[in-house]
Amino acid sequence: MVSAEQNNDNVVRGVPFGRNFGRCPGCGSRSIVPIIYGYPTVETVLQAHRDELHLGGCYVTGDDPQFRCRGCGTNW
Ligand SMILES: [Zn+2]
Repeated sequence: MVSAEQNNDNVVRGVPFGRNFGRCPGCGSRSIVPIIYGYPTVETVLQAHRDELHLGGCYVTGDDPQFRCRGCGTNW
């Protein structure tokens, strides 16, 4: 079991994968999670439960938001 916590140096609070997703266009929060589409794996379900990402579902329209703000719930 490898934890994402090994990348602590690069992790903005609450952001997985050591990536910086920028700021929410709605409220300016940096508490952003990526929206993952497609059939969820065990790992992505666990990450969703930890609030590290948002599961967008299996169906992709081609015009789907990529990020979700945990502060105000805006998707973009
Ligand atoms: Zn926001």
